[in-house]
Amino acid sequence: MTNANSESQDVRTPSNFLRDIIAEDVRTKKYGDAVIQTRFPPEPNGYLHIGHAKAICLDFGLADEFGGKTNLRFDDTNPEKEEQEYVDSIMKDVRWLGFEWDRLCFASDYFGQLYQWALQLIRAGKAYVDDLSAEDIRHYRGTLTGPGTDSPYRNRSVEENLDLFVRMKNGEFPDGSRVLRARIDMASPNLNMRDPVMYRILHATHHRTGDTWCIYPMYDFAHGQSDSIEQITHSMCTLEFADHQPIYRWYIEQLGIFPSQQFEFDRLNLTYTLLSKRKLLQLVQEKHVSGWDDPRMPTLSGIRRRGFTPEAIRTFCAAIGATRTNGTTDIEMLEHFQRDDLNRRARRAMAVLYPLKVVIDNYPEGQEEFVEVANNPEDPSAGTRQVPFSREIYIEQDDFRELPPPKYYRLSPGKEVRLRNAYFITAQSVEKDAAGNIVEVHCTYDPASRGGNSPDGRKVKSTMHWVSAPHAISAEIRLYDKLFSKADPGDFEEGQSFLSNLNPNSLEILSGARLEPSLAGARVEEHFQFERVGYFCVDPDSAPGRLVFNRTLPLKDTWAKIEKKAGS
Ligand code: ATP
Ligand code: MG
Repeated sequence: MTNANSESQDVRTPSNFLRDIIAEDVRTKKYGDAVIQTRFPPEPNGYLHIGHAKAICLDFGLADEFGGKTNLRFDDTNPEKEEQEYVDSIMKDVRWLGFEWDRLCFASDYFGQLYQWALQLIRAGKAYVDDLSAEDIRHYRGTLTGPGTDSPYRNRSVEENLDLFVRMKNGEFPDGSRVLRARIDMASPNLNMRDPVMYRILHATHHRTGDTWCIYPMYDFAHGQSDSIEQITHSMCTLEFADHQPIYRWYIEQLGIFPSQQFEFDRLNLTYTLLSKRKLLQLVQEKHVSGWDDPRMPTLSGIRRRGFTPEAIRTFCAAIGATRTNGTTDIEMLEHFQRDDLNRRARRAMAVLYPLKVVIDNYPEGQEEFVEVANNPEDPSAGTRQVPFSREIYIEQDDFRELPPPKYYRLSPGKEVRLRNAYFITAQSVEKDAAGNIVEVHCTYDPASRGGNSPDGRKVKSTMHWVSAPHAISAEIRLYDKLFSKADPGDFEEGQSFLSNLNPNSLEILSGARLEPSLAGARVEEHFQFERVGYFCVDPDSAPGRLVFNRTLPLKDTWAKIEKKAGS
């Protein structure tokens, strides 16, 4: 997988040309004494995803760095696809990422002003009402290699245009029957400049303005002017809008309003991940996932539920920086920053996912004791806790082999291992059921090895986690894996769709896990490292006495390996 971002960049000094531009504008006082003003402009037609996090970190982060301000602006000009639910989730997610907006704005608040500006352009002979059908407009627009053709309505008088536009607004015409277009240049090499549509007729109920309007401005007619109204100095967006820059500037120049400027940066693409609201919506609607916040989704609400943290996402976004070439970033890089963050912060606990009973024959029956365990070896301030130990414990099935293969250092008959923080044990015999499955392993322990310390300098090759059987609690464990099994989920066979790349094993649910009793008090969204297993967090599906844990990530970090390979 090529990785323009990660290969060429040093994580500590990520390149970010936007920062350089802003720093220069501040130095030269391009906007006088005015502060840097940015905005994050989501369309409320879906939940935010990790790609939006990159835009948020740039919009809010850069303004912050230079003492500026950032507005959250809903780009709500498509009433058919937009909903209050999305507005609410977007505000929640921006705050969760750790940012607070200066002003909360809605493009729909500018509908009145935009309408006045449309009238102004009509009066100046710069806009006209076109009766061509959408199909004809597309046809007349021409191609990348050939010029367009003027619409027969292009030379309507100002009076006629004013009359028709006012009547469009008054609801006299059906949807799609007419549009308002800017009168620019049908031969422009940039198709966006060939008399772009400014307004369309749409009798739809808007989530904020209700039925007040039956004409709605197009993105290009709304965005630059909304920036201008809010006196945005640096309007940052993704590269696919580069071709729109001339039209962005044209409206601002024709109207003679605050000269906001647009800058484009590379869109975040991640391996094994789709970042398109339309496709994410399809996954939700067709129930391939449980909802927008399914822990396998790349939405901020999904990865939050999965156990990702705002700190790690911000560190990741800072590390990828911003460039002017689209590339694909390895998902392992994001996971690396997440492990790093959780390693520092997550409380440790012992949980056995696939339990195998171990009976310690020489440990007195009915006895119990408590061993002291550090909550987080990376963070002494996290303190310690008392973990119960007794004659019967659980270990992972994988940690025992009756017939060990070569180099198998965990428990097997005659072999001694360390139980983490507890004792050395040696396997003696196994007990099987009628079908020949091992149901119990009988061991002996060395009382002198308490705390897991070697009594006489004798070495063991393996340290294993365990849970005392009579004290253990149970919980549902949800093991998540990648939602797609292909690095580029958008790459599929003819006649198929991206759905053919769904990973059929992206969720495994375990009901038999046994956990140390201190986890009974775990709270929703709390993070843990289950020792030797992975990072987990408590799912909101949990109820009193019925805990559900999501696996955020297994412990193994593959990013270091990838980085090494890329560097060699
Ligand atoms: P999608 O294609 O997923 O629907 P969008 O671009 O239509 O995304 P918007 O709500 O319009 O979504 O995006 C708000 C802001 O977030 C825009 O400035 C957009 O450029 C930016 N953005 C969206 N996706 C990404 C991404 N993958 N990487 C970086 N920025 C993004
Ligand atoms: Mg969009």
